[in-house]
Amino acid sequence: MKQKSYPVFPDQIQASHDVDGGFLCFWTYWRPDPDDDDPEMPGLKQQMFTYIPALSHEPCLCGSKKVYGRCCRPQRYWRTICPNLAWQGYSVLESQTAVYHGVDGRRVREQLMDEIQLQCVEDTSRRAFWILWGDPALKSEYGIMCFGDIELQDNQTLLVTAMSRSRMAALSRILKKLMGKQLPQPDMDYDPVTVIDKRTGKHYALPIDTRKESFSIKHGRKNVNRKT
Ligand SMILES: [Zn+2]
Repeated sequence: MKQKSYPVFPDQIQASHDVDGGFLCFWTYWRPDPDDDDPEMPGLKQQMFTYIPALSHEPCLCGSKKVYGRCCRPQRYWRTICPNLAWQGYSVLESQTAVYHGVDGRRVREQLMDEIQLQCVEDTSRRAFWILWGDPALKSEYGIMCFGDIELQDNQTLLVTAMSRSRMAALSRILKKLMGKQLPQPDMDYDPVTVIDKRTGKHYALPIDTRKESFSIKHGRKNVNRKT
């Protein structure tokens, strides 16, 4: 069964975490489950936050291409990042799902099974589930790093989940490469982005509408969310 990938934020910021000197980074790993029928099959997901220091004059780890001292360091709230596919830097954590309706499930299943960047971890008649490892897959002591997942439901709906725009773009590129014109336009769903107030340590969610708007603009669609 699909395991939800929403991050659980730490209750407290540890004293060792300087909010003006680095980022919280969210990692997802998969590793084999020793209790599983097939101990080689990655069946356990592990997620964790680590602290990554940042220097003022260096490019900001949020991926903005500005330097940290002029980007995330002066912000009131603390943003969380996650690594991009293939060690291509980091991006701001923005959990999102793309839903593709009415796909040709049998064909899609074969195409996804053949894709070297994906690993199938569940395959039943009702549901198949792949995780994006990239090529080569990146191993660590916690398991193999995971950059998103694809679920095929009832042989007709694809559910693509990613923790950042960059990861979603990587998954979309893979699907486009495999399916070409068969690929329908997805319905996008965004989870609230949680940030941490640097002074109070309180968590709060950023408004979703502003993020939807910029996604529409980026993809050249008519923007229905813009306020006039
Ligand atoms: Zn930044």
